Amino acid sequence: KSKELGKNTYSIYHDSMEEDLAERILIEKQLRNAIYNREFTLAYQPQINLKTGQVIGVEALIRWNNPILGFVSPNKFIPIAEETNLILDIGEWVTQTCIQQLKAWKNTRFDSLHIAMNVSSVQFENIQYLSFVNKLMENAGVDNHRLEIELTERTVMNNADENIARFNQIRAKGFGLSVDDFGTGYSSLSYLKKFPLSVLKIDKTFVDGIPQEEEDISIATAILNLAQSLNMNAVAEGVETLEQLEYLRSLGCNFAQGYYISRPVPIKELEEWLTHNNSNFYQNNSSESLEY
Ligand code: C2E
Ligand code: MG
Ligand code: MG
Ligand code: MG
Repeated sequence: KSKELGKNTYSIYHDSMEEDLAERILIEKQLRNAIYNREFTLAYQPQINLKTGQVIGVEALIRWNNPILGFVSPNKFIPIAEETNLILDIGEWVTQTCIQQLKAWKNTRFDSLHIAMNVSSVQFENIQYLSFVNKLMENAGVDNHRLEIELTERTVMNNADENIARFNQIRAKGFGLSVDDFGTGYSSLSYLKKFPLSVLKIDKTFVDGIPQEEEDISIATAILNLAQSLNMNAVAEGVETLEQLEYLRSLGCNFAQGYYISRPVPIKELEEWLTHNNSNFYQNNSSESLEY
């Protein structure tokens, strides 16, 4: 059919489709051996309390460095991993690695930090997943409050009825439960009310517009009000400037993460950064222009 559009159009269209498919197949092929070849690492991005500057925890973000493909963004490979179910093994590796890290931090100066871990819907819908997490945490002897399970708004609202029971189990065990990319999916407010969630993460797309865009400020304010009425904390994602940080703080947002505070970094770098700042972001930044 595309041939009717003319030879050029056909060949451009066709080539790019072929390229996409070839790339996809290559990614999938490389992904199959990536765990065995130890190509994954986790990067950690600090989350701070906006009032005090105190680092309250970190989000763990997967990094993939493949000998053929180089660094591949999770935005690119996670969807492929989900379609092929490879995410089950990858997610298992992520879970083990996060819990090992929490264990390694026991009885150190970092032992009050939580780790927020991204869990894909495919992984979450696997009925064995929660008992797997429970067992690992028990074996590690780590307090469950220190692990936060991060699900996207889409995952949370997908199978909402079945999720209520599972969310209750998660929270009864003491784990945190946060809604990632909030505002980009379609939340049913009546479900949101029934879900025992601990954190709403304001999506970066809204943070980007602060303080210039009136609409983004309104949306952020609405999300903050919602979080407060439902007894949840709010984390602003993707804070890149001082202006954004200060504006969000003035709106009463509790927590934030973003490049302005720190990029996601390897564990050694994170620990050095925390030590250098005494786990407080304002400690070494207050001299610049801020008064906290
Ligand atoms: P996400 O969970 O919403 O993570 C936030 C993304 O924003 C991360 O991208 C982070 O590096 C980036 N980010 C943080 N602060 C800033 C900022 O100030 N500016 C900008 N421009 N970006 C910022 P990343 O690491 O590339 O991850 C992309 C997505 O891939 C994540 O979005 C998450 O959905 C998924 N992902 C990452 N790691 C995992 C994982 O271990 N498991 C699963 N299932 N998904 C993961
Ligand atoms: Mg996340
Ligand atoms: Mg997010
Ligand atoms: Mg995202």
